[in-house]
Amino acid sequence: MIEKNTIKNIYLDYYRLIKITRFILLFFLLFTNVHSQHICATDKYNKPFQDANPEKYEQIEIDIQNYLKAPKQKSGHHIIIPVVFHIVYNDANENIPDSVIYQQLEVLNESFNARNPDTTILTDTLKNWIGNFKISFELAYEDPYGLPTGGITRTHTQMSAFSYYGNLVKFDQHGKEPWPTNRYLNIWVCDLYNYLLGYAQFPGGPEETDGVVLDWQTVGNQQYSWSYSDPAFSNWIGGKVAVHEIGHWLNLYHPWGNDGQCSEDYIPETGSQGGPIYPSAECPDTLFSTCNPSERVFVKHYMDYGGNNCLVCFTKNQVLRGLASLNTYRSEMLDNYQPRPTINRFKETKINPTHTQGRVYIELPPFSGNIIISAYDISGKMLYRTITTKRFNELFLDVSAGVYIINIEYNNQLIFSSKIMVTPNSPYGASIFSRNEIEDFIFLIGLCICLCYYICLKNINTNLM
Ligand SMILES: [Zn+2]
Repeated sequence: MIEKNTIKNIYLDYYRLIKITRFILLFFLLFTNVHSQHICATDKYNKPFQDANPEKYEQIEIDIQNYLKAPKQKSGHHIIIPVVFHIVYNDANENIPDSVIYQQLEVLNESFNARNPDTTILTDTLKNWIGNFKISFELAYEDPYGLPTGGITRTHTQMSAFSYYGNLVKFDQHGKEPWPTNRYLNIWVCDLYNYLLGYAQFPGGPEETDGVVLDWQTVGNQQYSWSYSDPAFSNWIGGKVAVHEIGHWLNLYHPWGNDGQCSEDYIPETGSQGGPIYPSAECPDTLFSTCNPSERVFVKHYMDYGGNNCLVCFTKNQVLRGLASLNTYRSEMLDNYQPRPTINRFKETKINPTHTQGRVYIELPPFSGNIIISAYDISGKMLYRTITTKRFNELFLDVSAGVYIINIEYNNQLIFSSKIMVTPNSPYGASIFSRNEIEDFIFLIGLCICLCYYICLKNINTNLM
């Protein structure tokens, strides 16, 4: 009997042990799944290039370190980088609208100019470490053939999702070939496998694949309520994945280094890190380094994994390293930059008709951002004003007959102005004829005169006979 009970107890203990083990395994799997979300594949993506040509990458690093000893910034003015977004979509959701791209561009321009308001989460000490790239990103206004463009391409693909491995999104068969990578920063937007958020090519990789790839669900700015379907992206919907990946494109490494735990990122203030700091509610100011326990590391910068709420700045040395990269390996992009001829381009604006009963069609050349269209009467009183991002606009002016002025503003600058004549839409109140009506009237008078002349001439001839 005792033996039987003992066996039963052993069995129960064994059963409990199995249950506990299964629970621990399940917990471990869940925990590691959350934390092993493939946030950024930049290290894995670049490794084959680095392994194939280590001397080239060593030389790039030597060039950067030499530049940092005696920086000579090529561009004396504020740096502007032309960007083209290649939207490669399989279903309609992935074909994100232009407005979301504009939001993303605004996030980039805030982040690379230290204008983002969320730096308030930093302590005063940490605020001293904020770096400012003073770089602006603008949508390309001219394509590689010199034709006007809005800086966004759209390509339908049969691929349901893409991997960083193979890079298929960057080739025409399944995706979209880049525009010349020494003139444009190419950013591909597509569905990436396994919740991967993005990846970038470090300076030194093949020219034909240079650029940044983003999962479509990370693009834009959450403040604008872009509808995200998957909660797995909830920490990454503030447009900061693009900021992080462009940091890589400028040769910034993760703070745990390019070769795994505790390796070098060449940024003193980020300290030595054993691995990423994942999104959390706490978002600590600093943490003790897991590589060097006496050291505290700065974690609220874009090159870590802290998510929307915790990633708020580049550090000073990250900015210096990124600018060094731009002025050495990526200097062709600065040399090739042509400023946007903004005002000249808007001379191509078309307003039709200029004699109207109130309806006016306005066609603008390709542009990015907002345009303000306003209408004034001849005394200068504003009658109409609208802000638009569209190239094709229709206005209806419900005003009395008269001359009116249409003004178009861009970047707080008046870039186009035209007069229009409004005729009354009621035939009883018509006091001004349109050009077509006057032409028709003159034609009729002429016809009458010709007829009278012909009849008179015929009568004279008849009388003479
Ligand atoms: Zn990364």
